[in-house]
Amino acid sequence: MSKKFASQGDMAEKKISFTEIGKDLWAFTAEGDPNTGVIIGDDSVMIVEAQATPELANKVIEKVRSVTDKPISHLVLTHYHAVRVLGAAAYKAPTIIMSQKARSMVVERGAEDRESEFMRFPRLFMGYDDIAKVPPLTWPTTTFNDRMTVYLGKRRVDLRFVGRAHTAGDIVIHVPDANVMFTGDIVEYHSACYCGDGHFNDWPGTLEAIRSFDVEAIAPGRGDALVGKDMVNKALDATADFVTSTYKPVARIAQGGGSLKEAWDACRAECDPKFADYAIYEHCLPFNVARAYDEALGIDTPRIWTAQRDADMWAQLQG
Ligand SMILES: [Zn+2]
Repeated sequence: MSKKFASQGDMAEKKISFTEIGKDLWAFTAEGDPNTGVIIGDDSVMIVEAQATPELANKVIEKVRSVTDKPISHLVLTHYHAVRVLGAAAYKAPTIIMSQKARSMVVERGAEDRESEFMRFPRLFMGYDDIAKVPPLTWPTTTFNDRMTVYLGKRRVDLRFVGRAHTAGDIVIHVPDANVMFTGDIVEYHSACYCGDGHFNDWPGTLEAIRSFDVEAIAPGRGDALVGKDMVNKALDATADFVTSTYKPVARIAQGGGSLKEAWDACRAECDPKFADYAIYEHCLPFNVARAYDEALGIDTPRIWTAQRDADMWAQLQG
C-alpha cells in the first residue's frame, strides 16, 4: 500500500488558536500547521511569518484586528520556505525583513521550493488549482547578517542568527522586555521537524543557544504556544531528540556503506515509537532521511528539492 504523497491526504481543516504569550505578544497556531507571531509595539505591529497564501494571512489579520488597530509596519520571515512566506502581500507591510542568507536561498532555490511545497501541501494552498496562480516569490526589503534591532516605539525587538538548523538561514526573534521568543521551525512542538534543508550536526547547538536566553515563552514553528519555562525546555529537549534520533541511525548506515533504504529502516526503528503521532511525521520522513544521509556523507549544502525529486524520493521510500 502506498501512502498519499507528503500532506496530500491531510485535508481536514485545523482549529485556529490565538494565544497571548507575553504582554502584547501573540501566537497564531493551528494544530501543527505553520504558526505566525504578532508583536504589538507602541504605535505599530510586527508580524513574524506570513503564511502560505494571502487567504491564510487574512485569517491572521482578522485575529490581529481583534486585539489592536495599530498598522502593520514590519513583516519578519525566519526563513525562505514557501508555506511561510508566500502570503506576505496581504499584510501590506512597508518593511519585510529576512536574513541575508535566507534571501540568498530565495535566489538559489525559492522557485523550486514554491513548486515543491505547492504539491506537498494542497490544503495550505486551497483555492489554487494551478502553480501559475500561486503568489510569486516574496523578497525582503531589508536584510542583515547576524543581528538587527527594530524599535517599535519604545519596544525593542532583536532579530538574531544563532546558528544553522532547519535551514542555513533561520533567525529567531527575541522581545527582551517580556523575554519571549519566536523561533520559526528551529523549534517544533508535537510536530515533526522538516529537515530536508536542514543541518543536523549544527541543530542541537542552535537549540542550546536558544535555551541560553532562558525565555518565558516561545512561539514555535508548528504546534501549540509554549508558555512557561517548563514547556519551553520540554519542547527544546523534544526537538533535539527528534533531530538526533533521525540523524544518528541514518549516519551509522550511510557511513558504513549501507543504502538509503537501509537508512530509512534504521530511522523508522528509532523514530516511529517516539514520534509517529507528531504532525507531518510521515510527510517529513523521506526528506529527512535523504538529507541526513547526504550530510553524513559530507554534503554540507542540502541538495535542492524539486517537485520531481520529491516524487522520486517518495516512490523510493514511502511508495
Ligand atoms: Zn520551514
